[in-house]
Amino acid sequence: MTSGGGIQIPSRLPLLLTHEGVLLPGSTVRFSVDSPRNMHLVSQRLLRGTSLKSTIIGVIPNTRDPEHDTDDLPTLHKIGTAGIAVQVVGSNWPKPHYTLLITGLCRFSVSSLLKERPFVLAEVVQLDKLEQYMSPATDGVATDDGQLGELSQKFYQAAVQLLGMLDMSVPVVAKFRRLLDSLPRETLPDVVASMIRTSNKEKLQVLDAVSLEERFKKALPMLTRQIEGLKLLQKTRKTGPDNEKRVLSVRKGGVFPGRQFNLDEEDEDDDGDDTAVLERKVHGANMPEAALRVCLKELKRLKKMPQSMPEYALTRNYLDLMVELPWSKSTKDCLDIRAARTLLDNDHYAMDKLKRRVLEYLAVRQLKTSLKGPILCFVGPPGVGKTSVGRSIARTLGREFHRIALGGVCDQSDIRGHRRTYVGSMPGRIINGLKTVGVNNPVFLLDEVDKLGKSLQGDPAAALLEVLDPEQNHSFTDHYLNVAFDLSQVLFIATANTTATIPPALLDRMEVLQVPGYTQEEKVEIAHRHLIPNQLEQHGLTPQQLHIPQETTQIIISRYTREAGVRSLERKIGAICRAVAVKVTEGHRVTKTEALIPEGPAEPRDKAAPPEMPILIDHMALKDILGLPLFEMEVSERFTLPGVALGLAWTPLGGEIMFVEASRMEGEGQLTLTGQLGDVMKESAHLAISWLRANAKTYQLTNMVGGPDPLEGTDIHLHFPAGAVTKDGPSAGVTIVTCLASLFSGRLVRSDIAMTGEITLRGLVLPVGGIKDKVLAAYRAGVKCVILPKRNEKDLEELPANIRADLDFVTAANLDEVLNAAFEGGFPGTASTRTHPQLTSKL
Ligand code: ADP
Repeated sequence: MTSGGGIQIPSRLPLLLTHEGVLLPGSTVRFSVDSPRNMHLVSQRLLRGTSLKSTIIGVIPNTRDPEHDTDDLPTLHKIGTAGIAVQVVGSNWPKPHYTLLITGLCRFSVSSLLKERPFVLAEVVQLDKLEQYMSPATDGVATDDGQLGELSQKFYQAAVQLLGMLDMSVPVVAKFRRLLDSLPRETLPDVVASMIRTSNKEKLQVLDAVSLEERFKKALPMLTRQIEGLKLLQKTRKTGPDNEKRVLSVRKGGVFPGRQFNLDEEDEDDDGDDTAVLERKVHGANMPEAALRVCLKELKRLKKMPQSMPEYALTRNYLDLMVELPWSKSTKDCLDIRAARTLLDNDHYAMDKLKRRVLEYLAVRQLKTSLKGPILCFVGPPGVGKTSVGRSIARTLGREFHRIALGGVCDQSDIRGHRRTYVGSMPGRIINGLKTVGVNNPVFLLDEVDKLGKSLQGDPAAALLEVLDPEQNHSFTDHYLNVAFDLSQVLFIATANTTATIPPALLDRMEVLQVPGYTQEEKVEIAHRHLIPNQLEQHGLTPQQLHIPQETTQIIISRYTREAGVRSLERKIGAICRAVAVKVTEGHRVTKTEALIPEGPAEPRDKAAPPEMPILIDHMALKDILGLPLFEMEVSERFTLPGVALGLAWTPLGGEIMFVEASRMEGEGQLTLTGQLGDVMKESAHLAISWLRANAKTYQLTNMVGGPDPLEGTDIHLHFPAGAVTKDGPSAGVTIVTCLASLFSGRLVRSDIAMTGEITLRGLVLPVGGIKDKVLAAYRAGVKCVILPKRNEKDLEELPANIRADLDFVTAANLDEVLNAAFEGGFPGTASTRTHPQLTSKL
């Protein structure tokens, strides 16, 4: 009880809305707080305040089902209990939350809400007088009102009877005895109701009983029921005082008030800190011997700890995690290869090679019934369906799916957890993931393994290696758990944008499956088969309400997105759906108000569909919703001066076109390079210049004043726009040569041609990687012809037939052939101006 006779609670109280239990005046209850509003209340009010008043808050039961709890404020229960926060403990595991210990003072009712954010503040009216708590025990109600006096007398006697049945050697019971004698009678219903076994609903009834008489009437049956129940138990279990003590087990560490006598053991619902329940759970968790031993030891410590100790919460959290982990819970695999094939096909358009390989992988897995073997790693640009395929694999196997994002992870404890000795320690992502899925054989998608970082906190890749190694992962030890967990049943799949930055040791464990970008046609198909139906569903729309024709999809793809995958395409479709959803709901409103106008017995109108359904998205509507196109066909515009050539680059995000620009000015033969460069790019530039100088005569290349050495009295400036990765430098070789040849000859490069290839000093063209992605990028940009190294010819087979039909390909073995193809009508001095051009058209 608090001191200070005649205390008035402040007329404005911050309110704590809680699902957990009901606080009654005179009792002390522990609340766990994690909703945003309540968290703000703690951090901005309780932790900042300095006066006694600032520790007084209102606790209002939130009667809304927590499952359906949303951000908006529920209708508040009309009565709450003002209380003093006597302790605040903060913790950030499993998520940030506070634990508050609050002692109830008196009832209040809410008269008006002052604000809802960041926490609820309300104008309140105090309903109980606090003076009454100060009056001596014998005083009070008994004397003045006959009926009330009788009731309170009855209640007191019942309480005494209950006490008589309890074991006085238990400290809490002794305290109850003391309080019963010293507390004013009118406080008894609240105090007793919060102490004996009552459900939250019953406590709510007591809370709502504002008149004292009503309160006695509500609480008395609960008390008598408790006595009856106890009598019954004692009758059935007459096997000595020991057993009785167990029956009447009183919570360990309990300090009156606020603790309940746990009279009926079956009922273990609403109070979380029962170590007995926890102990049962520990035994029921089916954990291995070693883990069990650790748990029992921790449990023993927990029992000895006072609850107010911060370590209590830590140990408790640890044990809660241990019992929740799926030590031996798993789902049953249900793999039917034929069904798997259908499922993969239904979920994903195109990507045949990948789907085939995944099926093989699954089939082998089935035959061998073991998971040892390489880990699949899908490598490709964003939005090409890597995650989505992973999810399908889980579905075909009937397993749980969980994605672990590794991008930017640079601390090994992200994987392996923090030791429990650290403040804020927690398990790593693997163990957390297992807890989330609740089974020990999920599919874990290790997303973006190429973006793992490294830092002083240790190398996460090394930790990951341990997770993936079948020789080690059956006894993976998370630092937080500190006991081994068997990961051998987990199916790991990795994704990455590029293999270049995957740590080699990790790459070694994986089988890389390339997932290239999509062509325009594939994207249209994907949009109409998957993305549009999905987005419609997500926005609660039907095809009867929204229609996006193929031409529109094509415009979105070419004018509003420039990507290898379909992610921003999906986003744009989402934007269209949102815009249409607004229209549709507006339509709803109109029809509703119309329906209000009495129409007589006219036939019912179709309320769901306003007249102009479906809404058709044409290019005008597209402009309204998405704004002006983001990309114009700009390629040809840039070829108005000599010294520009279009190269093709490979990036982890897919292929890209890349303009290489050159200019020259008077100088001393210096070469300046700007833009995205690596040393490799510089080398290519020097190679190109040397070759051109050596062959200047053949190709009639000159300097600015027509001299035979292109570099004489001239400075050259080469610019590479950002985009390509450094490693891809060499493949710009042919582009640099073409660009410079254009500059030195004053001729324009064909504006509809793009190229890639590495060069040698002797003018040979060497093969490069990423042909499919590069060609797709060229195609996206509207290029008509692609020059590529002769030895890359075989890569063209991977291209979709329509692209092969639409584009011209020149396969060049040397620079002579490149130059000849890159300029309109050939290049003067090239061998092919004398022989046939090397054009392999329409493969
Ligand atoms: P990633 O993991 O490669 O970045 P996602 O798997 O997140 O890409 O794919 C982005 C979106 O595109 C998802 O909604 C996915 O279903 C869809 N998607 C990608 N490729 C295909 C495809 N071939 N068929 C159907 N949908 C696809």
